Amino acid sequence: MTIDTDFHSHVARSSARQMAQTAREKGLRMLGLSEHIFQMSEARPTLQHMPDEGPLLSFSAYSEAVRAAAQEVSIETRLGLEVDFIPGLNEQIQAFLPGRNWDFLIGSVHEVDGVIILDDSVTNREKSEARWLRYFALLRQAATCGAFSLVSHPVRMRIESAFLPPTLDEELERLAAEAARCDVALEINGYDVLRYTNLVRRLARACALHHTPVSVGSDAHYPARVAQAHQLSEEILREAGIHEVRIWRRMEPEAYQF
Ligand SMILES: [Zn+2]
Ligand SMILES: [Zn+2]
Repeated sequence: MTIDTDFHSHVARSSARQMAQTAREKGLRMLGLSEHIFQMSEARPTLQHMPDEGPLLSFSAYSEAVRAAAQEVSIETRLGLEVDFIPGLNEQIQAFLPGRNWDFLIGSVHEVDGVIILDDSVTNREKSEARWLRYFALLRQAATCGAFSLVSHPVRMRIESAFLPPTLDEELERLAAEAARCDVALEINGYDVLRYTNLVRRLARACALHHTPVSVGSDAHYPARVAQAHQLSEEILREAGIHEVRIWRRMEPEAYQF
């Protein structure tokens, strides 16, 4: 494995230490932890409608656990957060972010126009295509809003419906162009790589075309899933002609070749 970082992982169902331990065992040199903002006790009242993925943590307990895991396990950890992008709530959500020593912030669209993206929930072609287009519009807004280091899982709408818009590649390219313009990375997401490999290939091609920085993250919610799709992600990136992964420290972008 030459991609030896993972910049999307969750702690609510285990702990920062367990995630870091597994990352080290799997040969990673650095783990980016990115718990959901809706799992933070301070932010939960604002995001009450999001799923409950485990015990809530305060911002300070989370940050301490991520820093302590690095010491206990002898691996570099980076403190991140997966932040919902929801027009109408963004001001309230993003007010929680300043002053907490983030290394990186992930912008995520988990709902479109008040409806959470759920497995196989849209079975009508016309509605599905419209939802995809709205999803891409929100991803572009997330990429250009200035709050995030990267935008996660850009093809995750596939979980909701298999009806893809005929303009999917144009949409991916528009997103890749906007992200590149704002120096925001798009994510090659392990969950999506394993399930929607060809869609992620199309995303990688769009990123290559527009020289968009690329982040690689497993989206592991359990230790066993850390770096779950790294080998295939690497193949997809090489195939697209991408040989560099972006990472962050104290919100400053860094990169390495693989
Ligand atoms: Zn997500
Ligand atoms: Zn996630």
